[in-house]
Order: sequence, then C-alpha cells, then structure tokens
Amino acid sequence: MGDTRGPRGSGGSSSSPPPSSSSSSLPLESFVAPGGRGHGLRATRHLGPGASLLRVAPLAAVPYAAHLDRVCGGCLQPCDATRRCARCGVARTCATCAEGTRARRLHDLECDALRRLAREDDAEGLTLAHVDLRLLLRARAALRLAEEAEAEEAAASSSQGGGGVGGGVGGRVGAVADASVAAMCAAGDVVVDGAAAFAELMSGLRGGDDGALAPDAVEKIVEVAKQCKYLVAAELRASLDEYCATLGRLQLNGFEITAAEPTSDGPSSTGANANETPGEGFGFARLVPRGGGGVGGHEPVGVGVYPSAAGFNHSCEPNAAQRFDRHACVVVETTREVRRGEELTIPYVDERLDAAARNERLWKNFAFECDCARCARERRDEAAGNQPTDECA
Ligand SMILES: [Zn+2]
Ligand SMILES: [Zn+2]
Ligand SMILES: [Zn+2]
Repeated sequence: MGDTRGPRGSGGSSSSPPPSSSSSSLPLESFVAPGGRGHGLRATRHLGPGASLLRVAPLAAVPYAAHLDRVCGGCLQPCDATRRCARCGVARTCATCAEGTRARRLHDLECDALRRLAREDDAEGLTLAHVDLRLLLRARAALRLAEEAEAEEAAASSSQGGGGVGGGVGGRVGAVADASVAAMCAAGDVVVDGAAAFAELMSGLRGGDDGALAPDAVEKIVEVAKQCKYLVAAELRASLDEYCATLGRLQLNGFEITAAEPTSDGPSSTGANANETPGEGFGFARLVPRGGGGVGGHEPVGVGVYPSAAGFNHSCEPNAAQRFDRHACVVVETTREVRRGEELTIPYVDERLDAAARNERLWKNFAFECDCARCARERRDEAAGNQPTDECA
C-alpha cells in the first residue's frame, strides 16, 4: 500500500476524472493512486510550501442549528437578526447575498421546510437539528439552480457564440451573475461546481465511495430520506432511492466547516456580530471533511459539499491543508514542498490526535484505516513500548 489512504473504494476505474476545473492553470491532476486506493490528486509541477492548489465555492452549505441565528444561510458569514426571513423565522440572508437572486432562490426552495422543522407541533421528530436533512434539501435546490443556469448559459452561448462571464478556472459558472458569487470570483480564481460535478460526485467518479457505510448509518439515511420526502419542495421531488443515494454521498464527501478561532478565546461563542466588518468575514480558517471531529478547539459551524475539493486523499502527515476564506470557499494549499508527481493529501481528522484516535475516527466516519508512514511508525513505536512520536503537538 502507498503512503496515504482515502475512502476511494471503487478502484479499477480506467480513466481518471479531472477536477471539474480542467484548466491547466491548476497545479494538480487526478490520477489512479497506487495500491488500489482509487483516485487521488497529484502535483503536476514542483510546488513550494503555501502554494495554492484549489479554491472551490460551496455547491451547498448549511449552518448547524446552533448557528442558524448567527450566520447567513447563503455564505455562512455573520449576519444580524434584522435579516431573518419573516416567513420561516429561521434563515438569515446577509446584505451581500441579498443583492443577488441565488441565495434568495435557494432559500425560497427550502423556506417552507425550515418553517415546518421549526414548528414544534408539527415536528414528528423532525427538527432543525437534522443538519443532514437540511443539507440534502439545500443540495437539491442548488442542483436545480445549477441546471437552470447551465441551460440558460447553453442557450445564450448557442445564440451569441459563447463568451460571457463563464470560463473561470473551469467549473460551471452560470450563477456568476449573482452578487455573492461575483464577489468570490473577484477575490481570485474559484471553481464553481455545477450539475456535472455534482453528478460525478453522485456517480462515485469523484470523491469517496459510499459502498462502505455502516448498517446503522444506512438506517439513519433511510430515515432522513423519508423526512426529506415529506418536506421537500414539490419542484425538487425525487425518489426515496435518490434521496438515500445523495445522503450517502454527502455523508462521505461533505466537509465540516469549523471556525478559525478556538472557541475558548474567540468571540464566536457569544454570537456577537463584532466580526461583521466588510472584508473580515467570520474568520473561517479551518475545514475538515465531515465527521473529522473539528480541529482542536475550533468550533464546527456547519457542513458543506465541495465536489472539486472531495478528490484529495487523506494522510496523517499530509502535504496540503484546507481552510475557508471569507467567501466560504474552501482553499487548499500546500504545507510543505511537494515534488512533481507526488500525491497531494489533506488531513481528514485532527492531526494532533494519536494514531489510535485518528484511526478510530477515520474508521467510523470514512470506513477506512490509515496506513500512512506516520501511522506505521507510531504503531511500531507503540508495539515497541515507546511513546508514540508526537511531532505535531
Ligand atoms: Zn451571505
Ligand atoms: Zn424563510
Ligand atoms: Zn495515517
């Protein structure tokens, strides 16, 4: 086995799908990782530490229930109470997101569901705390908008001979006319994943394999899918099977968004809006794949799906790391020098945990055990009765 291990599962695919951005400006490419580990991403040139690898806009992201009354449902940035939706009384939309149509339309498609989830007398066990359910509803709405935008773009380009604001780093950018998306594009190259990237994620061509979900996880998925059927807007309806399949993919490929500042000394725990200054953002700086359990004291804020960022395999001594920028985009950068052709890896769990704890979380959340060089070293040390190496402390 190689240096790293990811929940890629379905090895044996003959072709490597590129990240949705097929642009040559990105210093990475998809490849079939050695050792039957499915797909990974590798560097296409020598990279120094801190090199930017990928910046991806969220296809769909939702705050945890505890943050619903603190952040914008569109960009997950701090947002005050005056911007709360009068109909559902739940979601907030910040001034930037409100400028465009995307955030409003996304919310329109989930507003009724949120209102019903918030109403206790209609709960039937359903609450806003069902973040998987809210992410599923949001993902279905986002997919609908992406499809519409792409259809419009295709129509426009066939009648005008192409062009437009699209292009970017390669993702579909039909929604770029929206103010919040335009702002994130203005801040630098960004991959805006669209329907195609989502379809690839769903098909298993991109990101982790859902074949390995534990039985109790599958049971829970079916339960949430039934709730989705009951709550989803009529125009977003699909089969129970499709809800289940989507939930499974979101579970293995979603990212948990965590706040930049440790909860203990950050203002975030008070819910203060002091951070809501233009250009400052909430200060999201760390993001770990879903289920990673946060990163030492960094409070989890929500979950999101970023298909183009789902292709990085895990390592306990990774050469890259992920963080959020103030546009809720995930930014992946190298943390050390990387040779051309070397696999690019990120941590799926807190690197400061010991080997046993890391692997327990990896197994529980991603259904694999890590066999990276560090795990091998620490297991060897442990077997020899030595203290495990703790270079990350
Ligand atoms: Zn916003
Ligand atoms: Zn609403
Ligand atoms: Zn490892």
